[in-house]
Amino acid sequence: VTTRRLVAAARTVSRAQAKLLKALLDVSDLFPVAESAVLEVAAALAWTKPATAIQLSQAHEVMRRLPAVGESLAAGDIDLPRARVIADAVSTLDDEIARRVAEQVLPSAPKMTTGQLRARLAKMVIAADPDTAVKRHKRRVSGRRVVFEPGHDGCANVLGLDLSAEEAVRASTNISRLARQLKAAGDPRSMDQLRADTFVRLLCGESTGRGSVELTCSLPTLAQLSRNPGALAGYGPVVAEIARNVASQQAKSAWTYTVRDPSSGNVFHGTVRSRPDRPPGGKADPGGPAGPVVPEGAKEPRRRSRNGSSDGGSSSAGNSGTAGAAGRGSGGGNPEAARKAPAGVRREVVARDRTCRAPGCRVPATACDLDHTKPWGAGGETVSANLIPLCRFHHRARHEGGWRYKRQANGVVTWRSPLGNIYHTYPEQDDDPP
Ligand SMILES: [Zn+2]
Repeated sequence: VTTRRLVAAARTVSRAQAKLLKALLDVSDLFPVAESAVLEVAAALAWTKPATAIQLSQAHEVMRRLPAVGESLAAGDIDLPRARVIADAVSTLDDEIARRVAEQVLPSAPKMTTGQLRARLAKMVIAADPDTAVKRHKRRVSGRRVVFEPGHDGCANVLGLDLSAEEAVRASTNISRLARQLKAAGDPRSMDQLRADTFVRLLCGESTGRGSVELTCSLPTLAQLSRNPGALAGYGPVVAEIARNVASQQAKSAWTYTVRDPSSGNVFHGTVRSRPDRPPGGKADPGGPAGPVVPEGAKEPRRRSRNGSSDGGSSSAGNSGTAGAAGRGSGGGNPEAARKAPAGVRREVVARDRTCRAPGCRVPATACDLDHTKPWGAGGETVSANLIPLCRFHHRARHEGGWRYKRQANGVVTWRSPLGNIYHTYPEQDDDPP
């Protein structure tokens, strides 16, 4: 009951926000010149001029340009931060396409955090108009530059702006990797200091190996049969052209594939040994590139390529079909060894769930603990069906905070909060939840 009152109060605020936006527009409509409207509103509410201008333009975006978003706010279904995220994400699209994308995302928006919403929209905006997305990327990256700005107290800033996301991710991953190595070797500097010092050292010409970038991309996109966006770990969706470019640059890295069964959310996962004869950036090959056979009715498989030495490429191809073999008792008399998920099982769970499975959490599964749904101590097995990724924070919430969950056969995880409220989370995928 207390939680219900909380939700009701939030809906009341949303409805009031819609009323405020509507009232702003009513005043603004009385003036043919925007600047005069700003002055009138600023005087009435004792707001600064810049703040007023921002509010008026947001009111226009939400209530006029995207009427469905305005209605959803007025009904109390979404709040103002969600409305802003939607308006902001589609701001570069033509009106008609912007409205379509907004209407598509609205039904699931009330259940998503602003972070989840932003990620979903980034993908939809690229998919809705790939040509414009490519043009915008080219225009922006052509303005790439390095800026030096003097700072205070004998410090200064060096900034690389509008770099290609792929190169920027590679660079910053590399900086973090080198900094972690120094930390692991006992360096007393903080991680921030180590990253900054590594950054400067590399810029001054002291080179130490290549960076890595992890790409997730659908097979049709790699085969140039579709222009669905790919995703760079640590950045988010990128246009198909960039995804193919990254894949072709990393043709020698480890590639894995994942085929998802849409009815169960289960995945078939393994390592790719063969490579296409020609780079994916080349001319379309009507025969299609070499790759895993996709079972009929399966969802688009995903390929993940990883550069660098971490994964070794040759590791345990074919682990996908044998995840069950890693279960209880296979540790050869060492219970603690059998409790920890073998690399193959871990990869499968990571590929299946992609993020922490607690409500609203977007911590990548690669950085999560694997939680035994039925606890190990109670006879639960170390198999993918009994494991979900949980970040440190949510792992603790489950074991010490009174949060309980069940993973259903279709992959949906149902949570029960300490106050007895029920929440569902869905395996990350391209479509809206069922
Ligand atoms: Zn989490």
